[in-house]
This record gives sequence, structure tokens and C-alpha cells, in this order.
Amino acid sequence: MGRPRILILGGTSEARLLAEALAARDDCDVLLSLAGRTEKPAVQPVPVRIGGFGGAVALADFLKAGGYDLLIDATHPFAERISANAAFAAETTCIAAIALHRPEWQRVAGDRWRDMQSIPAAIEALGPSTRHVFLATGRQGAHHAEAAPQHHYLVRSVDPVEPVLALDNVQYILDRGPFALDGERALLRQHDIDVIIAKNSGGAATYAKIEAARLLGIEVMMVARAPASIVKAVDSVEAALAAIDHLFFPLAMNRGV
Ligand code: NAP
Repeated sequence: MGRPRILILGGTSEARLLAEALAARDDCDVLLSLAGRTEKPAVQPVPVRIGGFGGAVALADFLKAGGYDLLIDATHPFAERISANAAFAAETTCIAAIALHRPEWQRVAGDRWRDMQSIPAAIEALGPSTRHVFLATGRQGAHHAEAAPQHHYLVRSVDPVEPVLALDNVQYILDRGPFALDGERALLRQHDIDVIIAKNSGGAATYAKIEAARLLGIEVMMVARAPASIVKAVDSVEAALAAIDHLFFPLAMNRGV
């Protein structure tokens, strides 16, 4: 076999770091695929393609036509459709696949978390009386807040929420992580926040709000991830590199990467 061809489904810092590590090794041909959601995507260390494939079958066709040997689903843990498509495409093409998803955050002493299955469930659980909500779930789920217009919302996202929400009491912040504890604590205080709705994304970049909530005694409605797919799962870039070595470079497994 020649150089292994790897398609990475990205849109996360893990995908970029994995691509960077593979680019440095220079023993695989890597293509990084981005959905094209963010207006100013970060510069990437390997060739990039942008935009949806057109569904699971089209992704399978793309893998076959491109002669790929491995599919790595390194998308965000809440990007559920593309992960399901990836699992389907891997299964139907018999191309090896790895899911790289960072570990979930775990509750620690002092956290006031309520576990939620979805953003709509979290909005409903806010209850009938007015609350000051930091909706930190990104722009895609923000419209669910319209089901409970009695609350005040602070909505943070990387790109603008469009169309704007049909709500009287909503403020928007455009910002991209990583976020620091001091800034998050100041934000929660400044907006008099008494509850945060967050996705259990894991990782360090967006954890400061959870820490700030703990320090200020603020409740967090923590939206859980969907169950993991059947694809082989790893939870770090190092583990993904080891899995790649195991598949394609078994003789190099002692190189200590
Ligand atoms: P999604 O709902 O799972 O996917 C929707 C559709 O977008 C997919 O069916 C696919 O279109 C296309 N798509 C998604 N990721 C793609 C990729 N890496 N390459 C090519 N096409 C892709 O995904 P999402 O929640 O909208 O997330 C979109 C992107 O933003 C992902 O790359 C994800 O890693 C990143 N992201 C998501 C979140 C989040 O909270 N959801 C947070 C940070 C970053 P086709 O069916 O046409 O192929």
C-alpha cells in the first residue's frame, strides 16, 4: 500500500491538532473537511475541503472515489448528524473509521448541575417565573428559547444568530473561545445570570463558564451528548495517532508519539 489516505471530519481544535501532527509526520495524505459554518475558519495545516457532502451515501461515495483508507470523525461532540453519517459511510464502505471526541466534563463538588437531554428540555425546565439565562449553546439551538419568552437571555455564539430571536429580552455576544475564568465570572455578574444552559462539550476552551458558575453558586442546565456511535472511539489526539499507527504503521509503534 502507498501512503494511507485519511479524511478528517473537522471543525474542532482536536481535528486541527491531529492534522498538524500528521502533517509533521508526513507519512499520510490527509484531507480535512469543514462544514463551512464559521465565517472566518482558522488556518489549517493540511489541505481543506469545505461544505457538506450531501448526506451519508454521498459521504460514502466521496470516500470510495477518493480511495480513502481511513475516516476520522473529529467533529464536535454535538455535531450529531455528521457523526451518524460518518458511522454509516464507514460501515457501508468497510473503510476503517475512528471517532475522536474529547472527554465529557464531570461534575465536581460545588457544581449545581441539572442533567438535560436536550436544549428544549432545558428551556422548559427553567420554569414559569422570569430567570436570567446565559444561553451558551451556540447559535444553532438558540431559537428554542422562543418557547419561553418570559426569561431574559444572554446568547453567546461565534457567528450571529440569524434570524434574530423573536424575544423581547435578549442580548447577544459574539465571541469565540478560549474563555478565561475572570472574564466569565465578570460576565455572569454583569448580566445578573442565575442559570446557564450549556452543552457538555468537554475540553478546556469553554470550561471557564462552568467553573465560574461553581464559584458563584449558579445553576447549570447541562445538556448531555447523544450516545456514542459504534465506530472505534478515542478521546485524545495522541490516542488517535496511536490508532493510526496500529492500522498502518505497526512497525513504528515504538516511536513514542
Ligand atoms: P451536524 O448537524 O452534525 O451536521 C449537519 C450537516 O453539516 C451534515 O449533515 C453535513 O452535511 C455537514 N457537515 C457537518 N460537519 C461537516 C464536516 N466536518 N465536513 C463536511 N460537512 C459537514 O453538524 P453541526 O452541529 O452543524 O456542526 C457543523 C460543524 O461545526 C462541524 O464541523 C462541527 O465539528 C463544528 N462545530 C459544531 C458545534 C456544535 O455544537 N454542534 C460546536 C463547535 C463546532 P451533509 O449531510 O451535506 O454532508
